[in-house]
Amino acid sequence: MTNSAEGTVVDSRSDDAVEADGTPHRLAVNQVVAAVVALGATTVSLALWLTDPRGGLFQLDWLSGPLLLVCLGALTCVAELVVVPMRHDDDTVEGLTLLDAVVLLNALVLPVREALSVSLGGILLAHLLARRDFVKTMYNLGVYATASTAASILVQALVHSPAGFDLWLLLGMTTATAAFVTINLVHMALLLSAISSQRPGDVIRQDASLSVMTVIGTVCLTATILVLSVTAPVLLPCAILPAAAMRYAYGATAAKQEERRRSARVLEYSQVLASGPSRTGALRALLELVEGEFEGTTSMAIFVDGSVCRLESATSTLESSPFTSEHAQLLAVPKLRLLNLPELPFGWQSGMVAPLTVEGQHIGTVVVGTAGRSRLRQRDLTTLSPLAGSLAVALQNADQMDQLVEETSKLRAVVDQASDGIVVLDRDGTVQVWSPAMTAITGVDADAAIGALLGEVLTCEDAEGQAVDPFGEGRRRLSPDSPRVSVDVRLLRADDEQRSTRFSHAGAFEDGTLVRDVVIVRDLTAEWRVQRMKSDFIATVSHELRTPLTPLKGYADMLRKRGDALSPEKRTRALDVIIDRAEHLGRLVEDLLAASTITTDQQPTHAMTAEVADLNAMVARACEDFPSAGGRVQLQTSPDPVRVECDPTRVVQVVSNMLSNALKYSAADRPVVVAVDECDGRGRLRVQDQGLGIPADQLERVFEQFHRVEDPMVMSTGGTGLGLFIARHLARTMGGDLVAESTLGVGSEFTLLLPSWTPEAQAGNSAADPTSGATAV
Ligand code: ADP
Repeated sequence: MTNSAEGTVVDSRSDDAVEADGTPHRLAVNQVVAAVVALGATTVSLALWLTDPRGGLFQLDWLSGPLLLVCLGALTCVAELVVVPMRHDDDTVEGLTLLDAVVLLNALVLPVREALSVSLGGILLAHLLARRDFVKTMYNLGVYATASTAASILVQALVHSPAGFDLWLLLGMTTATAAFVTINLVHMALLLSAISSQRPGDVIRQDASLSVMTVIGTVCLTATILVLSVTAPVLLPCAILPAAAMRYAYGATAAKQEERRRSARVLEYSQVLASGPSRTGALRALLELVEGEFEGTTSMAIFVDGSVCRLESATSTLESSPFTSEHAQLLAVPKLRLLNLPELPFGWQSGMVAPLTVEGQHIGTVVVGTAGRSRLRQRDLTTLSPLAGSLAVALQNADQMDQLVEETSKLRAVVDQASDGIVVLDRDGTVQVWSPAMTAITGVDADAAIGALLGEVLTCEDAEGQAVDPFGEGRRRLSPDSPRVSVDVRLLRADDEQRSTRFSHAGAFEDGTLVRDVVIVRDLTAEWRVQRMKSDFIATVSHELRTPLTPLKGYADMLRKRGDALSPEKRTRALDVIIDRAEHLGRLVEDLLAASTITTDQQPTHAMTAEVADLNAMVARACEDFPSAGGRVQLQTSPDPVRVECDPTRVVQVVSNMLSNALKYSAADRPVVVAVDECDGRGRLRVQDQGLGIPADQLERVFEQFHRVEDPMVMSTGGTGLGLFIARHLARTMGGDLVAESTLGVGSEFTLLLPSWTPEAQAGNSAADPTSGATAV
């Protein structure tokens, strides 16, 4: 805060801010200005009326009256025009001038009327020359009228011996100066407080030391000029030195203030950048800051990739402009500098550029320009430079962040999409990453797994059935020399399911210590099942093929060697056995072929007919195939025909398989009950035996191809494990199903269900004639 009310002009931006802030501020400013002008006018009128119009304190022989007035008027005008602007933290601009000293001098050496005329005339002239705002002019005239009048009255009242220097003169000068400065100070505090909504006291306190020093400087300068005027006018030019020193001090203070404000701007921007803004966010923040910082400027950022970004002032959004040769020119010299006249874009009065450099590479340029009267100067570059530097770093960071986000999302996709489970463990075996496939394999959710120890999350056992911690086992075997190991374990899930899994560890070591373990978990259950199936298949098929071959070979050999010697009955019997075994071999091959064509997705693979047939009749036909059953089969047919839609040949094939199994897997003296009825709108056939039964965990698996409950290596009963697999496929292809119930050691019941035929269904069926022959069902 200084006592230079003349320079206390609110810059246009602050005025705008006042308007934008709302009417109350604007009203307050206007009220202050009106009050100041009214007070000035009143004091001047009173002074002219009441004070002695005779003359000033000093009668200066060396300067005649009019010339003195012209000189002092000119001095006043020059003092007002030479302004050192100082911007306050709240963005108001205060002008530091030597005007106070000159106006005070006028008040001391001239009578009141002349002092006021010279001072106010000089100020008015300066304002006209500088084309200052009318309100500002009126305000300053009002302030100086009041302050100058008060100083004049005090001098006249206290100083009685104008010809010499005595205590009264000193007291008069000091008191007049103090009154002058105080009035000035109070006025300005009121105005600034109206603009910035601060209390006047706070405004005064903010720059109190500067104000005090300004008062002292003004008093001393005025006293020096006075003394020299009276005692040694020849030395008056020497008064320029303290005046210049004061001006220099003003300049230094303003520069310090400016420096502080710029640091605050850079800090403000670095705070914005600390929040890790996007590329656009960093750019927009900088352009906003720059346009706020430099009065009446427009700014843009031009990048070497040909993009140009500007700030749309109304909405404060970033918009891009087309790249022109003008932009190319501005990019051409990657140096911090003011723009020369020919380089300035159309309509600009001044401009500056700061390069954006990332790791020594020029990526673009920030350009700032003014279109109005204010011009950018060399010192403005010192503000732009660190801001542009910060922006370059922020853009680099934003690019790196974008890359990081992209890389992370790619990695995330890999982890999420991988069919094998992925687990990342820290040095203690705590789960850090748990992929969705891991959840599918283990049945443990990521939420439950992450943060817990792997050994606590999973229950595993080795081939010998011993409990094992896959992480502990991996860590035991991992070493910097062998950072990859695999551990095969059986996983016991919470839902009692067991999975054969392989944990492939990849250890990361630091100073020989395991710091991270990335584990790929593969579910080998299906693979191992296939392996097992293959070996079972080979054992089963070779056994099945060999079994009929022995009687075939034996009887054929017998016929070759002793055929003529055999009785016709024995020969016929031998030939029957050969034919029977050959047929058995043929069926076996057929089954193998049929099984090889059946796919797991239950697509129809057999050409079938869609006919309406009675299930009772088909079952009876199937029973005929087992004449050797020796009355074990107890047929319980339904009294009414059970009409089903089916391929009768396939139904007989399925029923034969069911009967053959019931007879094969139960004791020779145990009955087999075959019952036909209708249930829930479907034809139902049940085959019950009192045989071995099937373990509960294999009840579904007996429908898998080649699966046999019996160990293939033992083979006390013949069979390939294909019958039920094919039978269920056929049943489902016909729109029905084949299911099993069994109790180990008690017996089994296999049920064939087929879609019932009804006249209504027939009417709605597009296949008008269900007995029309072969249809791909
Ligand atoms: P195969 O009888 O030729 O081995 P299947 O597919 O017909 O093949 O039967 C698969 C397995 O299901 C048989 O090996 C047997 O272990 C079991 N199985 C089928 N039917 C019965 C039954 N009625 N009682 C006990 N076990 C049976």
